[in-house]
Amino acid sequence: MTEHTLTVAGVAVDTRHWIGGRRVASAETFTDVSPLDGSALGEISRGTATEAVAAVAAAKAAFPGWAATPRAERARILHAVADGVEKRIEDLAIVETHDNAALLRSHRRGVMPRVAHNFRFFADWLLKLDHEDFETRGHTNHVSWDPAGPCVLITPWNAPLMLATWKIAPALAAGNTVILKPAEWTPLTASLLADIAADAGLPAGVLNVVQGYGAEAGNALVSHPDVRRISFTGSVPTAKAIGAASAANLVPTSFELGGKSPLLVFADADLDLAVDLAVEQYDNAGQVCLAATRILVEESIADEFTRRFAEKAAALKQGDPRDEATDLGPNIHPRQLEKIDGFVQRAIAAGARAVVGGTPNTDLGGLYYRPTLLTDVAQDSEVVQEEVFGPVLTLQTFATEREAVALANDTRFGLAATLATGDHERAERVTAQLVAGTVWVNCFFVRDLQAPFGGSRQSGVGREGGTWSFDFYCDLKNTVTAPKGWQDHG
Ligand code: NAD
Repeated sequence: MTEHTLTVAGVAVDTRHWIGGRRVASAETFTDVSPLDGSALGEISRGTATEAVAAVAAAKAAFPGWAATPRAERARILHAVADGVEKRIEDLAIVETHDNAALLRSHRRGVMPRVAHNFRFFADWLLKLDHEDFETRGHTNHVSWDPAGPCVLITPWNAPLMLATWKIAPALAAGNTVILKPAEWTPLTASLLADIAADAGLPAGVLNVVQGYGAEAGNALVSHPDVRRISFTGSVPTAKAIGAASAANLVPTSFELGGKSPLLVFADADLDLAVDLAVEQYDNAGQVCLAATRILVEESIADEFTRRFAEKAAALKQGDPRDEATDLGPNIHPRQLEKIDGFVQRAIAAGARAVVGGTPNTDLGGLYYRPTLLTDVAQDSEVVQEEVFGPVLTLQTFATEREAVALANDTRFGLAATLATGDHERAERVTAQLVAGTVWVNCFFVRDLQAPFGGSRQSGVGREGGTWSFDFYCDLKNTVTAPKGWQDHG
């Protein structure tokens, strides 16, 4: 334990950056506050351009060695990182819950196992990554997946370690080095990951973590000329700022952004399933980019759907996310709660009806917002068009399939869409017309890491997942060799 250690539920976390295989403190700090009770978890090193420059230099120095490390050895080390994550699932889960207030049970059973899986999946995918050689007039074409160099990865607070490792694992598997800048509201599990990776034998400088604010540490990292890739998950305005910075150096970027995804419920759907799918959208207190926050229901079943939905939503248990029985915890920050309530109150002032919820849950104190369903909302209204990022859903009705598709596509986003229908042909017809990176039919949130993941329109730029991740994190090279090769030319 040092003056740079904080303790969360008995777990020690180093509060300094991790640069070039060493802990580095900054002169200034920022306070990490727990959304569980508003208590200060500790003072975190606040990175500036100085730490950003040092981290990029460390990543650049480590790059040739890591890039030249045989694929099998890189994969072995990534599996060792996964082993380390699995050994510390309990620590990671409880620390993450104190930092971002998502459910402890889902951190334990879903999120942290998935963090380990991120490393295992991309380690294994690397080993089968290939492109068959092909011939052009007797010449052989060989495509190779060359590592690109130092990658800057910038991540949000709603699923901190899961989203960070979804980027770190393929970037490292590809032979790149990494500088991660976790969100300032949730820096802790990234620090634990740095320890785990070092223990697993990841060489110094291959993974670096710089903490701090977006406008300071983040901006200095994405503006650095030695960076070869930037992968960002977060909001649209930040993506625009990062896009402008990266354009100056022509650095390829991958953006996974916000959404306003629809759930289309047709009269031929299994109504119980449709209601379950709708209520699931309150997961993580509505702070899920993929959430289908716009429920579109066929007119003939709208009353019955709304009645059953209200019943189910009322049964959700709101409370401490460490409690196994809790369904919805608090939101992340007082600013976020205020933002959520602002959307709801403006919608109500404009004529919306809160048939479920509509206010903060003051019985619980703190940062809880009641699960909310708004009806009587206009398609062009703020609450239908803008991402709320809280437990707030809207419900609109449609008369025809054509109208359903038109409403579904009528936003500036295109991250995901969910359909509830009993008609296979309808599902195919509607899916073909939807603008969305992922469509779920009669299910939600089923994710396979080999699938392309990303958003259309302002929900993102590019796709990651499986081979698509390696496309992004590699410089693809085609080598053309003459028919006689090099033997006769020596
Ligand atoms: P945000 O854009 O405010 O911040 C995200 C990260 O960017 C943070 O680490 C922040 O410090 C950093 N940042 C801010 N300004 C920066 C700058 N100028 N340069 C470099 N970095 C900068 O987003 P948030 O509020 O943390 O996250 C919520 C958003 O993320 C929502 O819009 C949500 O939909 C989106 N999200 C998308 C996905 C996806 O996969 N599509 C997943 C989760 C969250």
